[in-house]
Amino acid sequence: MTRHIKFAIALVFFSLPIVGFAQQQPKLVVGITVDQMRWDFLNRFNHRWHKDGGMRRLLDKGFNCNAAYINYLPSYTACGHAGIYTGSVPAFHGITGNTWWDNVSQAYMYCTSDTNVTTVGGKSEAGRQSPNNLLGTTICDELRIATAYEGKTIGIALKDRGGILAAGHSANAAYWYDSESGEWITSTYYMNSLPKWVTDFKSPAKVDSLYRQGWSALFPIDSYQYGTEGPKPYQVHTFGGPQGQLPYNLAGFAGKRYDAVLSTPHGNTLTTQFAMDAVMHESLGADNIADFLAISYSSIDYIGHAYGPNSVEMEDAMARLDIDLGHFFRFLDKQVGQGEYLVFLTADHGSSHIPGYMTEHKLPSGIVSEEILLNELNTALRQKFGEANIAKAIMNSQVILDIPLIQRAKKLGESEVTDFVIEWLNMQPMVNRAIRLENIGRSTLNDVLATQIANAYFPKRSGHVQIIYKPALIDGFTKGGTTHGTGYAYDTHIPLLFYGWKIPVGNTTRKITINDIAPTVASLLHIQEPSTSIGHIIGEITDVPKH
Ligand code: ZN
Ligand code: ZN
Repeated sequence: MTRHIKFAIALVFFSLPIVGFAQQQPKLVVGITVDQMRWDFLNRFNHRWHKDGGMRRLLDKGFNCNAAYINYLPSYTACGHAGIYTGSVPAFHGITGNTWWDNVSQAYMYCTSDTNVTTVGGKSEAGRQSPNNLLGTTICDELRIATAYEGKTIGIALKDRGGILAAGHSANAAYWYDSESGEWITSTYYMNSLPKWVTDFKSPAKVDSLYRQGWSALFPIDSYQYGTEGPKPYQVHTFGGPQGQLPYNLAGFAGKRYDAVLSTPHGNTLTTQFAMDAVMHESLGADNIADFLAISYSSIDYIGHAYGPNSVEMEDAMARLDIDLGHFFRFLDKQVGQGEYLVFLTADHGSSHIPGYMTEHKLPSGIVSEEILLNELNTALRQKFGEANIAKAIMNSQVILDIPLIQRAKKLGESEVTDFVIEWLNMQPMVNRAIRLENIGRSTLNDVLATQIANAYFPKRSGHVQIIYKPALIDGFTKGGTTHGTGYAYDTHIPLLFYGWKIPVGNTTRKITINDIAPTVASLLHIQEPSTSIGHIIGEITDVPKH
């Protein structure tokens, strides 16, 4: 054989696995997380989905999992993004909250904080982030391994944790928004300087021009079915001054306040524009080796916290997100090719109705101050055991005991103190149950609650006593607004839609969990599921006959 023939045979041989990928994988996977999207938004805003919008396409041409639930506590952003992309729960991936108390270092820890790295793209401290606290791999990491690091993976979200925890450890990049400068930034964990396309994006100038557009209602104001009439005292009026309802004049923020865009639908538009630039300039979906783009739409969460799910603002923001997604899908049709990319859309959690709104309609709800609760608990503990501040904090609905203090004070027994805390909490009017986290297996709990609590428990990063408040009771927010974090249906029932490459049209009401997303995507891509995955493959999507 001549050298040329040998070379040709070698070329064919070594090309085979790549040809194999081409038959088995989409060119691009686009994971979309809508931060704080309740499942019922899909249907209650049905009249708002435009015929060319993203939601109509997902609902009519995709597969809709109508009973997808979060199966751990707390239903917060960091845990949600980690749960979607690892197919796992805090007990295994280690992300027990947005922030937690670390029992080893005896210090607070933010989920993506990393003091060993610095900001790339500005002087702000906001870039000192990495996925180092996340244990195990994400589905993006598994794609990197399976494609011998040829498949590109990028995470994009206004919130740092929304992109970082999705893209995982081996990501090519994660980008997030610096609300001080208006720039998209990253950290030295990923790279030492920003790619040219990121600086060319000229983010502050884009935000300024979005500010100049203001935020006005897309539709006649009296057509908003779920808008509570007029500004309500229980809503937070983000833009200050007399601006209590749409339209909002945002022009004054241009060049001055880059955080205000977060609480407007423009934040989602900015994210979409940035994601499209990433697809174009990073050549995502350009060849037959699958790439992964993980996007999270953070602005729905900021708007939800301020105005609640029953507001003109939320209805308008969701209608605008639908338009952005329609635009994005048409761009992907052209750039990557229709049917060549796989999309899923889900949420990291839902939200409670605002307590003031609930009261208005005679529905049970309330506000608890964990700060006051902690003070009262410490007073009771001091009276009983003679030591001040035995309970260190209440966070993520858990009581954290000061273990070094208990160990120093020889007369105190940890077990005795915990028993007292539980008995005391169980008598408080806002508390349904208080449970010792260490031996959840011995508690008399229904399966759903027992699973949620057990799935949350990671000893190094968890508190000692779990508090289950009454439904629709939220911490703080005395000045208005709402939040999420509980195990109740309003926080845990999330949308989940698949669309595109090899996805059948259909729906299911079978109960599935947030953990099922990553192993289902892994199955579709014929790659290994993430290392801590405990989910099940959604067979209704993967087991369709070949044609
Ligand atoms: Zn969130
Ligand atoms: Zn939130």
